[in-house]
Amino acid sequence: MPNRPLPRFPEPDTEPFWEATKRGELAYQQCNRCNSLVFTPRAHCDTCGSPDLAWKVSKGEGVIYSVSVVVDRNGDYAVAYIDLDEGFRMFSTVVGVDEPMKNLQCGQRVRVEFEPQEESEYLIPVFRLV
Ligand SMILES: [Zn+2]
Repeated sequence: MPNRPLPRFPEPDTEPFWEATKRGELAYQQCNRCNSLVFTPRAHCDTCGSPDLAWKVSKGEGVIYSVSVVVDRNGDYAVAYIDLDEGFRMFSTVVGVDEPMKNLQCGQRVRVEFEPQEESEYLIPVFRLV
């Protein structure tokens, strides 16, 4: 079981995001004043500065916007920006790909899944090719 870095809690701005991972939900925010989507989670809209943000749940599906392959002695792995269908972009990893250098490219569809962690009750959202 992996043991990826997580924030130290309490962390008021992002805690609803992490709580949602326990329900298998990918949460993002939308500004109630200007309707901009906000990600990563924060206290104020990064477009208009309003603190009036609503939490939403993504369907967790999107496409690879860009991808990099890290060559590692324990096996190569991919990190990617994912454009979610709702219209926000997040940085994550694409798991479960043999030879990621050969088999991953921009525009491929992916779906989120939640990876349990060894030393935390929170789960990490990762992506897998659909
Ligand atoms: Zn706004």
